[in-house]
Amino acid sequence: PSSEYEELRRRIRNNVQETWYYINAELSKLRKTIDKLSYEQREKKIQDTLKNVWDHKRSLIIDIDRLMKADGYDEWRKKEAKELSDLVQRRFRYLQNPNDCNKARKLVCSLNKGCGFGCQIHHITYCFLVAYGTERTLIIRSKGWRYHKDGWESVFKPLSETCVSPIGASHANWPGDSSKQVISLPIVDNVYPKPRFQPPSVPADLAARLEKLHGHPLVWWVGQVLKYLMRPQEHVKKTLNDAKERLGFKKPIVGIHVRRTDKVGTEAAYHDIDEYMVKVEQYFDELEPKPEVRRVFLASDDPKVITTARNRYSNYEIIGDPEIAETASVAKRYSDSSLQGIIIDIHLLSECDYLVCTFSSQVCRVAYELMQTYYPDAYNRFASLDDIYYYGGQNPHPHQAILDHKPRKEGEIELKVGDLIEVFGNHWDGYSKGYNTRTSMTGLFPSFKVKNPVDAVDFPKYPHVPL
Ligand code: GDP
Repeated sequence: PSSEYEELRRRIRNNVQETWYYINAELSKLRKTIDKLSYEQREKKIQDTLKNVWDHKRSLIIDIDRLMKADGYDEWRKKEAKELSDLVQRRFRYLQNPNDCNKARKLVCSLNKGCGFGCQIHHITYCFLVAYGTERTLIIRSKGWRYHKDGWESVFKPLSETCVSPIGASHANWPGDSSKQVISLPIVDNVYPKPRFQPPSVPADLAARLEKLHGHPLVWWVGQVLKYLMRPQEHVKKTLNDAKERLGFKKPIVGIHVRRTDKVGTEAAYHDIDEYMVKVEQYFDELEPKPEVRRVFLASDDPKVITTARNRYSNYEIIGDPEIAETASVAKRYSDSSLQGIIIDIHLLSECDYLVCTFSSQVCRVAYELMQTYYPDAYNRFASLDDIYYYGGQNPHPHQAILDHKPRKEGEIELKVGDLIEVFGNHWDGYSKGYNTRTSMTGLFPSFKVKNPVDAVDFPKYPHVPL
């Protein structure tokens, strides 16, 4: 290791200790003085302490990022990420371009799920994963798509250059059997038996490499599928470049997605723009070197969000297109112009350095998945105001306790190393809520005491595709 690496490593260890000294001392002092303090004094004390804790945390994070640069593995990370991506993209091309379409085994999906763009992209992704798992070429039926009557290929490249016809000698509905040339797959909500190839499964033959490279292998894997599926047609490429130019999209930049209209109160809670901006500010505070402008790309289905943010945060450069947001309202949503808008917004969000959004929205989850294709590992480039990342309709896959936990207050549950925990959510306050399958208890536990193990499943190994 370099001397810089060793110095940083020691410094991080010391500074964790310093952070503890500080918090311990401040709380001990507060215990003695709190009764004598006025409301204003107490507020000031707490504000100052929080600022100081933030400074400690910021310094630790910056040092850990420096440690990553100093450890000498940066080149390896880039190379490994590229090799893995190239390998799976080769396999996808092989699967999707059979020599003889008349004999090819096929899986057919319809692009007709009654939901939004992100949800439909995830629907096709699930179909693609089942196709990859069953070694069948994915054919999508998409004419009459609610976003564009001409279907998928009005905006994205065809999934195959040799085989797009759903016709075959024999047909069956999922699961069918290997004697049938064509199998039709229903939407994930209705599929039975559940395919083991759907998320959170990742191919076992890649799992070890992915676990080493990436903080969230499932997101990487889904991102690779999106990279293949969402290859834009030439005119869409041009639209994207024009949009970047017109809006002044430049790095460094943080992406915010604010989902409003039909989602609020039904599937997600309302979050004020201020809540998003707190996270943006924290990102920029930790960024080195300090950028000259704090630039934000803001996408929403409500144009008022963009105008409000610009009025309230004049110290930021907030770019975004209220006209696109206008086309995203439920009344106008299923139209060609709305389709252009959501493709632009998702693409630009995915190209940001950091994402602030609600993972309850599939728009932001798609952007986060695509973001993974631009970095060796971008798993931590987000702040979600609500859910942890998940894949809609995913097979159950519990987290695993890596540290024991004894409940300290009402509502907490016990953990023993190895316990399997179904996690319902991270409260982003140090605690998560979940169900311990060993004790059948539901409650809170410290989030850092569990890990999300990779779900490696045997997929075909595609031996004909060079490694
Ligand atoms: P979810 O409902 O938020 O989980 O995501 P979906 O993608 O399934 O459905 C929401 C739909 O609303 C999107 O597909 C868009 O058509 C529209 N929409 C939501 N947010 C935005 C946004 O930020 N920009 C644009 N252009 N459209 C949006």
